[in-house]
Amino acid sequence: MDSVATPGRTLALVREKGLVPRKSRGQNFLVDANIVRKIARAAELGPGDTVVEIGPGLGALTQELAARAGLVIAIEIDRELFAALEETLAGRDNVRLVAGDALKVDFDRLVAGILGIGEGRLPTYKVVANLPYYITTPILIHLLTSRFRIAELVLMVQAEVGYRMLARPGGKDYGALSVVVQYYTEPAVVLKVPRTVFYPQPEVESLVLKLTCRTRPAVQVEDEDFFFRVVRAAFNQRRKTILNALVSLGVEKSEIMKALAGAGIDPRRRGETLGMEEFASISRTLQH
Ligand code: SAM
Repeated sequence: MDSVATPGRTLALVREKGLVPRKSRGQNFLVDANIVRKIARAAELGPGDTVVEIGPGLGALTQELAARAGLVIAIEIDRELFAALEETLAGRDNVRLVAGDALKVDFDRLVAGILGIGEGRLPTYKVVANLPYYITTPILIHLLTSRFRIAELVLMVQAEVGYRMLARPGGKDYGALSVVVQYYTEPAVVLKVPRTVFYPQPEVESLVLKLTCRTRPAVQVEDEDFFFRVVRAAFNQRRKTILNALVSLGVEKSEIMKALAGAGIDPRRRGETLGMEEFASISRTLQH
């Protein structure tokens, strides 16, 4: 089938299959072939690439990915979309449709199973998605903290969340999500996307980001769970000083004072001014 990424074809398909786009599942379908091409191009796909798409919807992005990559594995939660997908992806024999909730999928196991190889020999693969907005943060946490063999992710997200992922210390957008994303990846903006390229139109603008996974995390920590607990504690009470915010960890104030002094951090600073290395230094010291 020709590209489904036009308003006319998408509407016709939705009507023909009796579909009602579900807000609760973040169903905003791309109806602009130019944007679809730009997203796929950002992933720099070639015949040697395996790409996992989260939420193929009606297949707008899937069609373009299939034209460029060696293999596309598309995970869709909504079975009602499968009849439409079978039509838009007819003849694309390098696409595997998987019914399921991406939040619960072990991506490495899925890809290795489809490639028919052991997980230990799994080459890296890419993830590309126009993400359903309601799962943006949990899916990111799942993809990054599971340490799957992902080389890079090209993701369309709500602009506001995208700016949080990119934010540097000091700004209002900087928070725990910035630290998690930048700990595991190097994020960059690919393009801004207006609401008008979707059917139905969402309430907010979007941003396409490319996250290149680091071979080693941005800073060295002994215990990642504890590092992220420190980060979350610092941002949970943004108006407090770092000293008072870290008390919620259940550590003695005197210990926190010592850790801050060791890292050369003024205890009156706010968490949102601290860089990743400073968080790492605090967490290393507090653990001893
Ligand atoms: N890729 C299509 C496009 O760009 O037109 C559709 C994108 S739409 C924003 C998000 C898609 O993700 C929908 O098809 C929705 O049903 C699906 N989805 C929602 N939650 C999901 C989940 N937990 N796991 C897998 N797919 C999900």
